[in-house]
Amino acid sequence: MKLTAVYPGTFDPITNGHIDIARRAADMFSHLIVGIAGSERKGPLFSLEQRVEMAKEVLADVPNIEVRPFKGLLATNMKEWGSDVIVRGLRAISDFEYEVQLAEVNKQIDHNLETVFIAASNKYTFLSSSIVRDIATNDGDVSDFVHPVVASAFARQLR
Ligand code: ADP
Repeated sequence: MKLTAVYPGTFDPITNGHIDIARRAADMFSHLIVGIAGSERKGPLFSLEQRVEMAKEVLADVPNIEVRPFKGLLATNMKEWGSDVIVRGLRAISDFEYEVQLAEVNKQIDHNLETVFIAASNKYTFLSSSIVRDIATNDGDVSDFVHPVVASAFARQLR
């Protein structure tokens, strides 16, 4: 088994679905880097620093998880980090096409890169950062979907 894997994403913000995948991946690999992409093009609600800080806090109890920001191509950062295993979560058929495309592109860029998919847990298959952002920006309660640290961050961000 490879030692270090990377779970990359935008995490705007990290949800209970992301946390579930990160914890399960951390059980499978000796070291998991949660790589948080700048994703400026997506115009994230939370800054890269805020997204990193939230992920660090909610995953602080897992000793083999490390949270790192990154900019530019994932493949370039993976090389720097000494990992060639990408972990992604799969929720539904709707994720499938995009995820397979991404995996293929990463392999074209660097043929050593392998993408491993972890199936979303049943209770999180409907959950996405964008749905949580929609609920929060419309004054809804997000406490069932995110860690309390993230719920408080929403309250501050949308004040
Ligand atoms: P990206 O912008 O790279 O798609 P996201 O933060 O939206 O970043 O998602 C990162 C990864 O986590 C993706 O592989 C996505 O499919 C997965 N993911 C997102 N939400 C969930 C969830 N509720 N359950 C399992 N995996 C999820």
